[in-house]
Amino acid sequence: MTYSAASAETSVRVERCDVCIVGAGIAGVNALFVASRYLSPSQKIVLVDRRDRPGGMWVDTYAYVRLHQPHGLFTAGNIKWTLGQDRSYLATKEEVLTHFEHCLDVVKQRVHVDEYFGWTLESHDESGGIVRVICTSSDGQVMVVEAKRLIKAGGFGVVPNDPLEISSARVLSVSPDFCDMRGDDMRASNAPVWVVGGGKTAMDTAHTLVTEYPGREVNLVAGSGTFFSNRDRLFPTGGRRWWGGTPVTRIFTELGRRFDGTNETDVATWFRTTYGTWLTPTAGNYLLGLLSESENRTIAAGLNEVIMDHVVDAVDRNGDTDLIFRSGSAKTIQPGSWIVNCTGYMLRNENPYEPYVSDSGAVLSIQPRSATLHLTSYVGYFLTHLLFLDKIQDLPLYELDAPDLRKKSKAAFPYTLGSLTMHNLSLIVDSVPNKVFLDCGLDLDRWYPRPRRMIGTTRFLLTHRRGRDHLRHTLDTVRKRFDVRCGPLR
Ligand SMILES: Cc1cc2nc3c(=O)[nH]c(=O)nc-3n(C[C@H](O)[C@H](O)[C@H](O)COP(=O)(O)OP(=O)(O)OC[C@H]3O[C@@H](n4cnc5c(N)ncnc54)[C@H](O)[C@@H]3O)c2cc1C
Repeated sequence: MTYSAASAETSVRVERCDVCIVGAGIAGVNALFVASRYLSPSQKIVLVDRRDRPGGMWVDTYAYVRLHQPHGLFTAGNIKWTLGQDRSYLATKEEVLTHFEHCLDVVKQRVHVDEYFGWTLESHDESGGIVRVICTSSDGQVMVVEAKRLIKAGGFGVVPNDPLEISSARVLSVSPDFCDMRGDDMRASNAPVWVVGGGKTAMDTAHTLVTEYPGREVNLVAGSGTFFSNRDRLFPTGGRRWWGGTPVTRIFTELGRRFDGTNETDVATWFRTTYGTWLTPTAGNYLLGLLSESENRTIAAGLNEVIMDHVVDAVDRNGDTDLIFRSGSAKTIQPGSWIVNCTGYMLRNENPYEPYVSDSGAVLSIQPRSATLHLTSYVGYFLTHLLFLDKIQDLPLYELDAPDLRKKSKAAFPYTLGSLTMHNLSLIVDSVPNKVFLDCGLDLDRWYPRPRRMIGTTRFLLTHRRGRDHLRHTLDTVRKRFDVRCGPLR
């Protein structure tokens, strides 16, 4: 059976399908996996993405990026990796992209998927139980997709970083997304490098530079500093998987118990000293990144200088080239130095607010302006289940305007996200079949052997309802304190 038709009058292509999914990043591919569990082989999904292949941000982020969690835990549903590497292996960009292709192949064995890469969703509207989605291709074609359900999985919507705008003509300002630190230009030069940023990209970049070019001058301008979850504590290897480390659900439960919507400084101190690792003298920011002790040591040992400030420009004056910082201070640097923009990509998204589900219940929107769980991959997985189980409108899930809260309080942001996640998972676990949780390959607790996991699951199942009121109270406190959208839809 073919669903597509071309209208003679308008020559606009019309595709009809059961589900249209826009976005083929990790959120969209999880939505695709889940949808395939509810549809029969004769039903059809239309998958649309403006990029030219699946993978989302992984398609065009910097070449030396690595997955920061063990690779098996970054997947769609319960799809296994085919890499054949040790479970602790951190996959490269190409390996991640290959896994995305694999996930699509696996889903296509269950359900018919029509792929439209290079197409952009422009708008959608709902009438008569049908969602009409208007899409355009890069060469100007228009397509209308008529779907029973639409899942907009724009997710974190990460786009490549441009180089910093710098006045000096004597420095090379680059972005890692367009300049590989291992490439010929960087290799041919021995000039100092100034890595600007303190998060995951800065750590990946500094690590690459200090290991590729031992002895070269590499400096870090780390803003106010970021700390990371210590990978050795969260994902211990060898026999320690049986007795060491702490499963992530336990950490989130404890964070949710401690955070009350006002005490983020105390909670951060506890969390950082118990589960964190960092290399800067101050480290107030946390954005769910992971770093191991050995990576941390390698970077720290290879850095020439660490400056806790924000670069605003580099200028040529009085025969010198000076880096200018937000604090007003300056630092003379060697002409020919490289300035690598590793400032944040995440939560810059200025897209307009959209609820996570439309009034009719037919459109699911996965993006941070109405976040319901800490990661878009989890939202793609769990909320698509709720959508197909027709429960998405029944549950009083809280939604959070994550970019707004991060703008207003970087300090309260990660702990609010933790409380939001635990609150909503507590509601979800009570309303979906057990299999939904059993098939969730994103679950970081899967790192641990099954008996340990079962103890953790039993503990969670016995206690989560007791903690729900506290979590709700915490989220209500955050809403009032910061005047952010943080509450149920209705
Ligand atoms: C540098 C960096 C490193 C990271 N490393 C990790 C890591 O190691 N582990 C981890 O778990 N997370 C990591 N993250 C977080 C990461 O962003 C997520 O894990 C994840 O890959 C994001 O997936 P997503 O589906 O939410 O969004 P994206 O990957 O951004 O995918 C969204 C897709 O939707 C498409 N789209 C959006 N709007 C439209 C439209 N209107 N029409 C058509 N298509 C549209 C986009 O083209 C895109 O392909 C990292 C983030 C960054 C910036």
